[in-house]
This record gives sequence, C-alpha cells and structure tokens, in this order.
Amino acid sequence: MAEAKLIDGKAFAIGLRQRVGAGVTELVAKGGPKPGLATVLVGADPASQVYVRSKGKTAVECGMASFDHQLGADASEQELLSLIAKLNADPTVNGILVQLPLPKHIDTAKVLLAIDPAKDVDGFHPVNVGRLGSIAAGAPLDFPVPCTPLGCSMLLQDALKNLSGANAVIVGRSNLVGRPVAQLLLRMDCTVTITHSRTRNLPALCRQADILVVAIGKTEFVRGDWVKPGAAVIDVGINRIPTAEGKSRLVGDVAFEEAKKVAGHITPVPGGVGPMTVACLMYNTLQSARRVAGLPFVAV
Ligand code: NDP
Repeated sequence: MAEAKLIDGKAFAIGLRQRVGAGVTELVAKGGPKPGLATVLVGADPASQVYVRSKGKTAVECGMASFDHQLGADASEQELLSLIAKLNADPTVNGILVQLPLPKHIDTAKVLLAIDPAKDVDGFHPVNVGRLGSIAAGAPLDFPVPCTPLGCSMLLQDALKNLSGANAVIVGRSNLVGRPVAQLLLRMDCTVTITHSRTRNLPALCRQADILVVAIGKTEFVRGDWVKPGAAVIDVGINRIPTAEGKSRLVGDVAFEEAKKVAGHITPVPGGVGPMTVACLMYNTLQSARRVAGLPFVAV
C-alpha cells in the first residue's frame, strides 16, 4: 500500500493567513473597521511570550492592528478584569486573547467569563462553548470557535472534501481540543466517538476510525497498528523529546513513521496542526470585525 498523503498544515496556514489578509483589505475598502487584536499576557513565561509575540506579529502581517498588554506576574485578578473591561469597551478592539495559563492566584474561569463573547476570539467563553455545543448540522460557524479545533476541521475538509457519514474517533476530551473537535465533526455529519483515559480497548476503537484525531499530550502513544488502512489521521499532540545530540525535537501523539504506512492522510508534527492555531485566530478576528460592520459571515 502507498504511503499516506501528508496534510501540509504549514502551507494551508500560509494560504489561510493570505486569505484573511485579503479579507481585511476588502473590509477596510468597504468602509469597515480595521480589525484589531488585543493580546494580554500576565507574567513572563518564556513560552507564553513567544506565542503572544507571534500572534501580534501575524495580526500585523494580516493588515490588522495589534495591541499588546503585559501585566506583571503579581498582577491582581481585579487588575486583569479592569483591563478586560476596558478592551471590551474599546471599539478599535475586535478580538481579545488572554494567554493561558494564568498565574494560580487568578481564577481563569472568571477571566474568560469577563470577555465580551463577541470579542472572544479564542472561543472559550461559555456562551460560545454553548453555541458550538448546540449547533445544527451544516449551520454556519458565525461565532468564535476554538482555534486549534477549527484548524483541524479545516485541514480535514480540505483533504477529504466530504466528511459526511465518516466514522470519527477523537482521542482526548479536553475543553481546549477534544470536545470542540467532536462538535465540529458532528456539524460536518461525522459519526463521532470521544475517548479518554478511562476508555476501554482504545486500540480497537481507533481501528474503526475513518478519521482519527489524537490530542492527549503523550509521545507517540497511538501506534501504526491502531490505524485503519486509508484513515485520515490528525495529530494534535506537541511533545518535546531529547535527541542523542543533546538537543530536543518535537513529536506528536501518533507514531508517525508507523502510521504513515497505513493511513490515507496524516498530519506531521511539526508542520501539521500547529501552524493552524494562529492562522485561525486571525480568521476569528476578521470574522468579529465583519460582524461589527454588520457584514454576513464569509468562509475565507
Ligand atoms: P489535556 O491534558 O487538557 O487533555 C488530555 C486528554 O487526553 C484528556 O482528555 C485525557 O483524558 C486524555 N488522555 C490522557 N491519557 C490518555 C490515555 N492514555 N488514553 C486516552 N486518553 C488519554 O491536553 P490538551 O487537549 O490541552 O492537549 C493535548 C495535546 O495537544 C498536547 O500535546 C498539547 O500540547 C497539544 N496541543 C496542541 C495545540 C496546537 O497544535 N496548537 C494546541 C493545544 C494543544 P482524561 O480526560 O480522562 O484525563
């Protein structure tokens, strides 16, 4: 059997960012607002700093305004809530992204609840979680949807074209990835099974999957003989492992070399789902700005 086709998330994300950029130009030409993304970082975690910087930089590359806010690691919950209230009221801000995780003394749920659902470009506000949880099959995604799951669904749509009736197995049930991916695939008419750490006989369930999405954070946990021949495999996992040269490299939750011999399509790590997250954040910010301008949802 031929090897799986690589799903090139890096190339897809570049194209998506270009389409978002064109959407921004069109919106401004029609007299709409220049979309604005506000990022909020509390503390100085180096990984979070890198993520926030890359989000701000990509926003500017897409023709948007970027507003970066940094609070000290000892900033109070009230300080953060006051900043969010200010951003909620600011008409130049269409998207608010609070970088997670927050320091332990801040109640994350309270902070996410304080963000205006219309500006919640991460899609974590309970109102948006509820909208996704109750969406009808095929209905437009005219509200913010969590970025990484949205990226997974876009890659699958592009690779498979028609997902209707496909048997989808999701490994992992986090609010960040597993659950929203399941909702998106249900909306695309897949038959969805969500699995987790207590699931019995996981390999057998995975072998039934036409679409296998894995998001657990465990290095090469899903083996090649868990994959149904011809299946589409989306590996969300990002795990850093040491190399023999004393450096480190990124690997996914799927044993890629084994799985690619069996699958029909597969995402690599890195270069698969990873680049889609920031691109989908830009997509969500553009959609928020379009809604402010009273323009209909448009898939770019
Ligand atoms: P969480 O730790 O929040 O959730 C992990 C999920 O995996 C849980 O539902 C857990 O089950 C399940 N799980 C753990 N062990 C097993 C097992 N042995 N068998 C079956 N299920 C298991 O992780 P996230 O969802 O936040 O992230 C998952 C991975 O995706 C990570 O590697 C993360 O780095 C990556 N990621 C990548 C992103 C990107 O590409 N941009 C963005 C977000 C995440 P239970 O609920 O029972 O505990």
